[in-house]
Amino acid sequence: MPPCVHRAEPQPDGSYRIFGQKIFITYGEHDMAENIIHLVLARTPTAPEGVKGISLFVVPKFMVNDDGSLGDRNDAYCVSIEHKLGIHASPTAIMAFGDHGGAVGHLVGEENRGLEYMFIMMNAARFGVGLEGVAACERAYQRARDYARDRIQCTDIGVRGGAKVAIINHPDVRRMLMIMKSRAEATRALAYVVAAAHDAATRHPDSEVRKRNQAFVDLMIPVVKGWSTESGVTIASIGVQVHGGMGYIEETGAAQHLRDAQISTIYEGTTGIQANDLIGRKMAREGGATLKSVINAMRALDADLAKQDGANFTAIRSRFSAGIDALAEAGEWLVATYGADVRAASAGAVPFLTLLGIVAGGWQMARAALVAQAKIDGGDKDPFYKAKVVTTRFYADHVLSQARGLASSVTDGAEGVLALPEDMF
Ligand SMILES: Cc1cc2nc3c(=O)[nH]c(=O)nc-3n(C[C@H](O)[C@H](O)[C@H](O)COP(=O)(O)OP(=O)(O)OC[C@H]3O[C@@H](n4cnc5c(N)ncnc54)[C@H](O)[C@@H]3O)c2cc1C
Repeated sequence: MPPCVHRAEPQPDGSYRIFGQKIFITYGEHDMAENIIHLVLARTPTAPEGVKGISLFVVPKFMVNDDGSLGDRNDAYCVSIEHKLGIHASPTAIMAFGDHGGAVGHLVGEENRGLEYMFIMMNAARFGVGLEGVAACERAYQRARDYARDRIQCTDIGVRGGAKVAIINHPDVRRMLMIMKSRAEATRALAYVVAAAHDAATRHPDSEVRKRNQAFVDLMIPVVKGWSTESGVTIASIGVQVHGGMGYIEETGAAQHLRDAQISTIYEGTTGIQANDLIGRKMAREGGATLKSVINAMRALDADLAKQDGANFTAIRSRFSAGIDALAEAGEWLVATYGADVRAASAGAVPFLTLLGIVAGGWQMARAALVAQAKIDGGDKDPFYKAKVVTTRFYADHVLSQARGLASSVTDGAEGVLALPEDMF
């Protein structure tokens, strides 16, 4: 997302006067708190050209007195509220700073380091929006599952002249619910593993461990953001489908999940921007080193999967292993191609992000299935564990199985993307 940059004029008292307008500010104005502070990027008069000349400022709605009480109204006003497809409870404001003489702003940190500071905030925000995708998957699943248990329609496909049954009995409805359930579990597991790595990256006493975890987090943030949110939209759409006609009607709430989920693939950087970040800054720039170490960690799970008997683990192991091979092949191709033909590499950026999401999600599902199987083998009768193994098997057959096709889109697909001249669209 290119930052929207305002003008900042230094004042004798050390503060600044900020001037400029910015669209699309989530919660830029509301009455749920006494005060609001805006973090605003602006250029000072002596700032160097380009991104190295951007500073970060705090601009409050109300000035704060020395005793902590609220003072004068600052010159930061909402001039309009956007009318949106969804998230109607979230006010998206157009903010005007300085239309009445200048908004008082206070410099954060040092001048000209604003973009660097913004990235710290943005990584956390991108992760948070990724969780919105996970939440959309889970909520849409719960609503669809409850409806599928209640809605009676048609007899069971295998029973002639029998009674009508709840739609959850129909194989295609079960398939849709399993896609929803497994994608919610896979995106959530991956997001939590990345969150744990973030904790280790910031708090672990060993600097080498911190560094390793930070590299993993940096690689995976665009995936948690891009893949989980795209999953949120897909799963919310399947949720509408499970409801049939009632899904298209507002009372059931299924359509709201779809409308609300759609923003998550856009704000804090669209999926295309996440994917460019992934293949460029996070992979090509370091020769794919972190991706290789992640792939090695995935392959290390194979020995544990091989110890398990039965059709479920046989399928999980073979699909996972094929998924890793596809990921490694597409990753190597991208790193090799990026420097020579960046347009060809970028044409495959989103398919690659999806591929990494699917295989990394499968990695975490496989780990969870192994833990669940150990519980079952130890005599634990909680149905949660059986469901985890079965859900992972479903994920392997229906989601991990897409890995090969995605890898082909990356390595063979650029020509078709780039061939048409602009006037043939
Ligand atoms: C409801 C809402 C709330 C928001 N809240 C905030 C907020 O609080 N703070 C804030 O700062 N911003 C906010 N935004 C702005 C949001 O982050 C941007 O709209 C978003 O990053 C996309 O940028 P854009 O609108 O300029 O789209 P564009 O950049 O015009 O993108 C249009 C299309 O082109 C593609 N594209 C653009 N450049 C490239 C490229 N180089 N390579 C490949 N594809 C590309 C995009 O993926 C997209 O598909 C909000 C937006 C909305 C709609």
